[in-house]
Amino acid sequence: MTSPIIARRFEIQGIVQGVGFRPHVFQLATKYHLTGSVTNTSAGVIIHSQGLPEAINAFHRDLVKHPPPLAHITKVNVYSQALKKHEAFAIAKSDGTAEKSALITPDTSVCEDCRREMFDAVDRRFRYPFINCTHCGPRYTIIDDIPYDRPNTSMRKFKMCPACQAEYDDPVDRRFHAQPNACPVCGPQVALFDHQRKPVEDADPILKTIDLLADGHIVAIKGLGGFHLAVDATNEAAVTRLRQRKIREEKPLALMAADLKTTRRFVHVNDLEASVLTSRQRPIVLLRIRTPNGIAPSVAPRSRDFGVMLPYTPMHYLLLEREPNVLVMTSGNRTDEPIAIANDDAFNRLADIADYFLVHNRDIYLRSDDSLVRPAAGAIRPIRRARGYVPVPVFLRHEVPPILALGAELKNTICLTKADRAFVSQHIGDLENVATHRFFKKTIDHLTRILDIRPEIVAFDMHPDYLSTEYARNMTDVAKITVQHHHAHIVSAMAEHGLSDPVIGLAFDGTGYGTDGHVWGGEIMVVTPDAFNRMAHLAYVPMPGSAAAIKEPWRMAISYLDAAFGDDLWNLNLPFMEQIDPEKIDIIRRMIARGLNTPQTSSLGRLFDGVAALAGIRHRVTFEGQAAMEMEGMAAETKASYSYEWEKTGGHYLIRSEPIIRDVVESLVAGVSVAIVAGRFHATLIRMFTELTIRISQDCGINRIVLSGGVFQNARLLTGLTDALYARDLKVYTHSIVPTNDGGICLGQAMVAAALA
Ligand code: ZN
Ligand code: ZN
Ligand code: FE
Repeated sequence: MTSPIIARRFEIQGIVQGVGFRPHVFQLATKYHLTGSVTNTSAGVIIHSQGLPEAINAFHRDLVKHPPPLAHITKVNVYSQALKKHEAFAIAKSDGTAEKSALITPDTSVCEDCRREMFDAVDRRFRYPFINCTHCGPRYTIIDDIPYDRPNTSMRKFKMCPACQAEYDDPVDRRFHAQPNACPVCGPQVALFDHQRKPVEDADPILKTIDLLADGHIVAIKGLGGFHLAVDATNEAAVTRLRQRKIREEKPLALMAADLKTTRRFVHVNDLEASVLTSRQRPIVLLRIRTPNGIAPSVAPRSRDFGVMLPYTPMHYLLLEREPNVLVMTSGNRTDEPIAIANDDAFNRLADIADYFLVHNRDIYLRSDDSLVRPAAGAIRPIRRARGYVPVPVFLRHEVPPILALGAELKNTICLTKADRAFVSQHIGDLENVATHRFFKKTIDHLTRILDIRPEIVAFDMHPDYLSTEYARNMTDVAKITVQHHHAHIVSAMAEHGLSDPVIGLAFDGTGYGTDGHVWGGEIMVVTPDAFNRMAHLAYVPMPGSAAAIKEPWRMAISYLDAAFGDDLWNLNLPFMEQIDPEKIDIIRRMIARGLNTPQTSSLGRLFDGVAALAGIRHRVTFEGQAAMEMEGMAAETKASYSYEWEKTGGHYLIRSEPIIRDVVESLVAGVSVAIVAGRFHATLIRMFTELTIRISQDCGINRIVLSGGVFQNARLLTGLTDALYARDLKVYTHSIVPTNDGGICLGQAMVAAALA
């Protein structure tokens, strides 16, 4: 007896358009001998299928389990249907509205099939650096408007040759509707110039570039989301020259290694890390140094990690095909400016940094930096979210009105919401830089256009002087909602996990404007999307010199010593005290006493800075968080902790820094090593915050703990605290989609605004 034929209708939602979904469904249906059709509509992909029940079940299972690489299915509805007469399975023409609402996918590293073709001597795209298909290649960075069609991308100026057009039109071809489809006959080309913009004649500009790199030259290379500055990573003189010219003093430089095997020669790579390195997003991954093995010392001075990525464009594969097979690939900018994306701009801005320029003629419409991630507490944590991840939305539990959230002043990103989706932009940067501020405005214009969103609400930080605040003030016809910085941090992490019931939020960072006008940053609060209640915080200490105290942690060290010891600080037999000019100490103490240009702060980031300076790790930083990062890097494994205490008044806890500082000083005076002091300091924070969190949990009967804020980039603290809280049966949530630093804050701002609207 044969099973009867049945008919099913599938409605599939998510990122299912413009990702090769229909050819995929076609092939799957053919495999299971189904008849019917697949079509794109504004409501998603609709499939009519007929066949044996077990075949339809297998089809359904395969479709959900193994969608095309760039698809992201959020919902599948299945309905029974009356049988119809179908001859075969067909790809039906889509209605126009479908294309318009299709989600844009991120820029994606070259797929295995394309890579194989590129290295296949008989393929028509042999060694063609712009090979791509429906499953890979540029997307977000080349789109100018919707719908996502070639005329709305920077591929508009390249007319497809008949061979490419035939692929584009064939529903079962891997390049069916691949908008950036191109070949050596019809597509973009590379060209090599010297720094005076004179063409360098060579049969193969890429091979010539490899020679130049091998000879120690700095080459500006146009990539997917912007320019890189590349040098041979094993050539110390070349790396030093790049640092000097770029005016980048100490911040580690990113590396690009030919493959995993090469990567493992100098860093440790576990399975999780390997899977991220080789993922189609291809972020820079911070990895523990095994042995430098030839990598130049000035790539990452005093760092325990190298940031490494694998090739992600076809051109990278060609460049790293032979020695040197590890390159420094740092962003093509001067420190603090946005990276260059246009050829003219690159020649103007990078001419006195780069010796040569490897450019191409496919325009980049929207800049997108390399993403940066770090594995911690068993998962991958984004530090900078851009290329490869943007514009995949955060899927929300419920629909919200159209909101524009403007983010923070530093590490700025912006967020736009549409129905049940929150789109977080790529990393924009520090708004105080004029060029970055322009990029901020451009990104807002661009994203509202390509996502087709007209914001009804603008959400922004409470800080009266932020440039985002000024931007919001100038907006018209929108409701305006200000959001407290740390409230936004915690709600951002809540949004990732779909939490809306009250949580205990630990918001630890460097700087955020508090409702009392002080600088917050060591906060424990009970949080819902629409409100927060500050339960505990670090006691305020003076920040002598305001912003100067961030750049010069020795000022914070004086501030903590002053609080802990008063005039007795002069009697401390501490190396730190001998290193600082007594007159300077006097000036700082007078500023503190008079409150001159000296805000009050509860920031945990500053406590890290202060302890790092006391321990002699560094007195000045060249980028935010540097001292804390180095302290984490050298911290010994120890569970021994220093003493700590807090005062409880009413339901409120005030954490004192003095006992910690006194113990740290005592250790240092006794000659305990910096590594042990750093280890104990971490252990102290883990123990203290675990105990305090448990108290607060008992006080208010909440067992969901949310961790957010830049300080949680510290893997030691994040892992230690997470483990300790889990061990006490608390549920712990943190970030794995958007950064825990200020780069994730716009998502929280948007969700707070949605709750208040
Ligand atoms: Zn491909
Ligand atoms: Zn072609
Ligand atoms: Fe923050």
